[in-house]
Amino acid sequence: MTPVLIVLNAGSSSLKFQVFDVPDGVEPRLVWKGLYEGLGGSTHFLVKDTDGAVLDEMTWDSGDRFGHEEALVHLVSRLSQFREERKPVAIGHRVVHGGEAFSRPVLVDEAVIQRLEALVPLAPLHQPHNLEPIRIVRRRLPGMPQVACFDTAFHQTQSDIASLFALPREMRERGVRRYGFHGLSYDYIASVLKDYDPRLAEGRVVVAHLGNGASLCALKDGVSIATTMGFSALDGLPMGTRCGAVDAGVVFFMLREMKLSPEEAERVLYTKSGLLGVSGISNDMRVLRSKAATNADAKRAIDLFVYRITREIGSLVAALGGIDGLVFTAGIGENDVATRAEVIAGLAWAGLTLDEAANRTGGPRISSRSGPTAWVIPTNEELVIARQTRSVLGAMQAKLAS
Ligand code: ADP
Repeated sequence: MTPVLIVLNAGSSSLKFQVFDVPDGVEPRLVWKGLYEGLGGSTHFLVKDTDGAVLDEMTWDSGDRFGHEEALVHLVSRLSQFREERKPVAIGHRVVHGGEAFSRPVLVDEAVIQRLEALVPLAPLHQPHNLEPIRIVRRRLPGMPQVACFDTAFHQTQSDIASLFALPREMRERGVRRYGFHGLSYDYIASVLKDYDPRLAEGRVVVAHLGNGASLCALKDGVSIATTMGFSALDGLPMGTRCGAVDAGVVFFMLREMKLSPEEAERVLYTKSGLLGVSGISNDMRVLRSKAATNADAKRAIDLFVYRITREIGSLVAALGGIDGLVFTAGIGENDVATRAEVIAGLAWAGLTLDEAANRTGGPRISSRSGPTAWVIPTNEELVIARQTRSVLGAMQAKLAS
């Protein structure tokens, strides 16, 4: 049987997975991808090959009590039963927060799980979902090596000053600092810049990861020197349903004057704000774009999104001391022609100019000839997890063999 790696991305009621072959000496190769949707209720399982052909599909109704645990056990046994037999040899997990302790991917053991659990208060809405499948696999498939890959780790190259809040020293000692997220995406983009333009790999680049979650990262020589997300995944740009940076005084107003509980305030900032909150219509850019010509609220939400991106890019250009390249990635960055055009129009002062025809067809290069360049580069966080998982596994095997 061919050994494969499983890459997992777990949400509250979903489990997305990708399966990679890991031939020696070359990049891990995606073979299958799929998901379980509606876990805990009526659940749908689907797995496809890289041509999009459906290999397997199943449904469980809500009486079947099919949750994350059942899905993980089902996945591992099902993969071994396909026509081309493949045996999962390790699982790589996306984990949003690695705190200060984890600056690289790590093989999971009990001590690691405990340290990651201690970080739940720093990412209360994401970390528990990321840790649940790790615990389940340890219980149900105890021999399976698991590797935790962190969204924060890529930003550990930032300077002390870039990661510091102007708060009392003891808060910094308690871990209150800027961490930054979307690191798996930025890691991927940094790793492929040389394939687009070798000068970018050694230059000053701003990457705009614009999906449901959105942030910007300043790369210098391919490493992160500044980013818009901070202590939590709330900071920086407005997002689908998250507010992005707001004055901390707003939170006190919500608690004291509006009499919201901390949980209610948190729910407003994470799930009722951003594009959804401002438009009152949707968190989905496609829906807002389709209405923007006739609906002032949809237009206002988009205008704010673009304005904030443009302003924050200005701040990162200052941190970099100039700009050689701008990269758009993730759902909106890869697909929304108008957002890219509007952002670049707002960056004329930095010497960026749009190649309209190239922008309409998705580039990859969407700037006209002179000055800093602009690009559309599809991200691939799962491939980064597969790379990191293989590398940790290789180190473990080398250690066992020595
Ligand atoms: P996530 O952060 O959940 O991974 P994605 O990277 O998939 O999110 O991005 C989701 C966003 O991308 C949504 O706002 C969606 O409307 C937007 N998007 C996806 N396809 C398009 C498209 N063709 N045009 C404009 N926006 C798009």
